[in-house]
Amino acid sequence: MALINCPECGRTISSASSKCPHCGYPMQGDGQHQDFQQQTISSEPLHSDRYQQSNAEPASHSAEPPCPENHLAKAILVTLLCCWPLGIPAIVYAAKVNTLYNQRRYREAEEASRNADKWFLISLVGGIIGIIGYFFLLIFLNLLA
Ligand SMILES: [Zn+2]
Repeated sequence: MALINCPECGRTISSASSKCPHCGYPMQGDGQHQDFQQQTISSEPLHSDRYQQSNAEPASHSAEPPCPENHLAKAILVTLLCCWPLGIPAIVYAAKVNTLYNQRRYREAEEASRNADKWFLISLVGGIIGIIGYFFLLIFLNLLA
């Protein structure tokens, strides 16, 4: 048994010990150091491989979210049946959903989908209020006549 210097902390330790008692650095003494090195070498490329894979194909089946609903049919329907000034934004946002999705701008596609649905509701409510108002106006004009 000889005394050697720890390569990590530089203190004198026994060459028989498997690791430095001061800093825990694994020693070559009984092959544990080698194991340790092999582990770090084999785990390093594995990790970077995984990293590269997830970096290279962000659109793989696991990363690709489903296409958000575009509400286009609803938007067109409400524009034709209710009031087109409020239905136009719904159609515009609905048309954006698929375009953004195809450009892999998933977050923006989802936002456009939400906006399309929002404008669909606005135009639907606005249309219903408008129709009711129109009927009240007709009744009112009838009463005047
Ligand atoms: Zn040490």
